[in-house]
Amino acid sequence: MKDTVEIHVSFDDHDSPRGGCTTHLASLFIRVLLEKRSLGVFFKDYPLLVRLNPGIPWKTRGNGAVVLRLKVPLGVEHEVLELAEAVSQEYSALFRDKTSMPGVAALVGGDPAILHRLYKKAVSDVVTLDVALRYASKAGVVFPSPGEARGLIGAVSALGGLLEGEDHTFELIAYRRPEYWGEPRRISGESVRRMALHTQPLTFHNYDFMRRRPLIAPHGSDPVLLGIRGEYPWVLRAALGMLEIDEPLDAWVIFRTNQGTDAHCVYRGISELRPYQSACVRGVVADPPRILRGGHVCFSIAEDDYRHQACVYEPAKPLNLVAARLWRGDEIMLLGTVRPSSGTEPQTINVEKIWVLRVAPKIIYRNPRCPRCGHTMKSAGRGKGFKCPKCGYRLREASKVPVKQPRLLKPGVYASPPGAAGHLLKPLSRMGREKHGFPSMPEHWYSYG
Ligand code: ATP
Repeated sequence: MKDTVEIHVSFDDHDSPRGGCTTHLASLFIRVLLEKRSLGVFFKDYPLLVRLNPGIPWKTRGNGAVVLRLKVPLGVEHEVLELAEAVSQEYSALFRDKTSMPGVAALVGGDPAILHRLYKKAVSDVVTLDVALRYASKAGVVFPSPGEARGLIGAVSALGGLLEGEDHTFELIAYRRPEYWGEPRRISGESVRRMALHTQPLTFHNYDFMRRRPLIAPHGSDPVLLGIRGEYPWVLRAALGMLEIDEPLDAWVIFRTNQGTDAHCVYRGISELRPYQSACVRGVVADPPRILRGGHVCFSIAEDDYRHQACVYEPAKPLNLVAARLWRGDEIMLLGTVRPSSGTEPQTINVEKIWVLRVAPKIIYRNPRCPRCGHTMKSAGRGKGFKCPKCGYRLREASKVPVKQPRLLKPGVYASPPGAAGHLLKPLSRMGREKHGFPSMPEHWYSYG
């Protein structure tokens, strides 16, 4: 249709520790667009919840931005952008503090594919404002509200995400009425467990069966009551119906998202790793694992002449137990985030997924047995061979004996459990469920009370 134009509007960083949430702001903007029928706005896609680099230290929580892909009658686009600005400013005034730096960006009639490379960088690396603005000017991005430098980085980058062909999942987010903000959330944990049990593997990361803990509700005073993650919108609507919630909902919206897709797994050489990037590297185990106090397990991965420390921390249990079974020479791939070096530790990959590609033989070297009495011999000193502590027999020319140990680790993929997994981490239950098409037009994707 020639008399319509596509607009892509993006919001980021509208929350602060005082409250608020960028998805909530987006839900309010969507409500305005739906209520103003005279605008003739058509939603081309579900609202997109685009998670960016999980290693960014200045994120508030999940480093998420929201993008709306709309089609509007020609001439209406300015009004839509003015509304976006008004809603953003009103929302920022409510929750603003010095940590939030709201950004709003839009593409009017432009091609978001131009921003795809920027998105791939922003989901896996640190992007400077300069780089974001260079891409923005190439793609013709406009900024409806002045915005703050940092928020603009996420807002511009997110515009290039979740394009056709990219794997995606969905999250249904339910919002609280303002009078409930800050009150305890009354959701039956048992109903979350049952919902997860009945709907898995089409839902994921909603309940931690190992620690018996619901994962759908945040803890802060923000307006989000709960978020249910899954493969399809219909399964999320059904899942919501299974929950026992003792509180009226203000609204719910289904977002299409890159959560649970490993979108941050962008391959890099080990020598290229820099702080705060995501690490998606391949190599061999160079040093066998060290088990630290608290159950953290550290080892080093090598590629060519480069070595890098990698650690699986105790909260990611049982992934730390997998790491503890690695051995020198194992071929592996790792996904995680790069932590800068501290006073005592070198730069380290905080590992959240391990692909064990090939298990090397584990050979340890033992002292020989005494040929006379069968007892294990002891070293008789450097270059002096071995001596039997039981019968005194001496072996002057012998050396240690290689012994092949059984390997308890099998090739395969091992991931952090739901309670410790970042938003972007693809759960093992999603393997083989990746989607490469575009979803059909959104239907029944919101409800406003
Ligand atoms: P919420 O989940 O509630 O939306 P959040 O965890 O998303 O909060 P933000 O408050 O949005 O956190 O803060 C993230 C900030 O980091 C934003 O200002 C965003 O523009 C910026 N940012 C995101 N990704 C990158 C990146 N790759 N490089 C540099 N800055 C980034």
